[in-house]
Amino acid sequence: MSVQPSSDPAAGAAVKAADRAHVFHSWSAQGLIDPLAIAGAEGSYFWDYDGKRYLDFSCQLVNTNIGHQHPKVVAAIQEQAAKLCTIAPGFAVDVRSEAARLVAERTPGDLDKIFFTNGGAEAVENAVRMARLHTGRSKVLSAYRSYHGATAAAINLTGDPRRWPSDTASAGVVHFWAPFLYRSPFHADSEAQECERALRHLEDTIAFEGPQTIAAIILETIPGTAGIMVPPPGYLAGVREICDRYGIVFILDEVMAGFGRTGHWFAADHFGVTPDLLTFAKGVNSGYVPLGGVAISAEIAATFDQRPYPGGLTYSGHPLACASAIATINAMAEEGIVENAAAIGENVIGPGLREIAERHPSVGEVRGLGVFWALDLVRDEETREPLVPYNASGADNQPMADFAAACKRGGLWPFVNMNRTHVVPPCTVTEAEAKEGLAILDEALGAADAHTV
Ligand code: PMP
Repeated sequence: MSVQPSSDPAAGAAVKAADRAHVFHSWSAQGLIDPLAIAGAEGSYFWDYDGKRYLDFSCQLVNTNIGHQHPKVVAAIQEQAAKLCTIAPGFAVDVRSEAARLVAERTPGDLDKIFFTNGGAEAVENAVRMARLHTGRSKVLSAYRSYHGATAAAINLTGDPRRWPSDTASAGVVHFWAPFLYRSPFHADSEAQECERALRHLEDTIAFEGPQTIAAIILETIPGTAGIMVPPPGYLAGVREICDRYGIVFILDEVMAGFGRTGHWFAADHFGVTPDLLTFAKGVNSGYVPLGGVAISAEIAATFDQRPYPGGLTYSGHPLACASAIATINAMAEEGIVENAAAIGENVIGPGLREIAERHPSVGEVRGLGVFWALDLVRDEETREPLVPYNASGADNQPMADFAAACKRGGLWPFVNMNRTHVVPPCTVTEAEAKEGLAILDEALGAADAHTV
């Protein structure tokens, strides 16, 4: 590490006081939170004003795929800022064209046109609009165990409980069950059976909704926030075939799984499946400047060849965001960062987590690939009862709160959601860092074990 954290608690207290006075935080009861004041970050670490360092096993919100403060990306933003900070989306500019080319080159199949947004939810909103205009149909099918963003349509598509308070305008959204063998909605006992039953359930849902009313099916290629559930072999190919049969647009949401996280550029590459629309954000530029987008098939792009696309954003293809995406993608290619994510997952994190699981009664299942892993924590290994009730808060959530606190005491920043902890370090994580994080996790799981039966 080139920058060493120093201790300045008074500065930290001032930052915190100003935050409490004026910042309104996402997903939070404003009076019940106590955000950590952050002084700096580099690579796989960030640190507070007491000089305490945290190994970032959350990648913030699973976005810093290239680590914090990558020098090539920082330099690219600085150079672009000196040259051209902003320009409306209607102009052709070098950085926008080049960022679009680099993304299109990596997305599967003929997804060769890129519509840029400021983040993931806007990408989902626009993908849905494109599908509706392309098909002339209105309904969109999405999975219960999913997260697609917090804007109006994206939160309705989201399956997890964050949808509930905003579920006021879900006209046209229909949820279905996607495969998840460990907690199988189909009571299946093998991956093949789970896959077959999940596809049959989707077909039944389509039949009863009316195929002629369905514009799109949206799925996260590997659902992220909902628990990193790698679909069984054949499932995504089966959904592709169903979409083709009924003229339904297939949208894969790769906002979290894309850009190296799974050890490939896109998670779809693991399954040999090409959607009609692919949404991305986060890892495209590690979130250094807000950026997302939709990669569009030739057929859907042609719909808007002679007819205007009725959507746009002031900052679509923002020069600073595009410059950071170019630098990120080039650095990932030059430095073998995607390959590193695959190798660390296969050789260090996967085996390490499985070994840890054997020692801890609270670990029900280990699942994932690349630098995209989840531990499903349980109260009872036999019944698989989750360590905390579904959508728990307050005292009900104490077991997970104890576990997260133990991670932080040990110097690890975890990604905790409901009864799971996700192991999602940067794609640049070294073997030594991965092992350091696994050791802290191993010890912290004792706090979860204390709540098992
Ligand atoms: N889709 C997926 C799969 C996501 O994981 C997220 C964010 N976690 C989003 C969409 C929304 O992205 P954003 O927060 O950038 O709007």
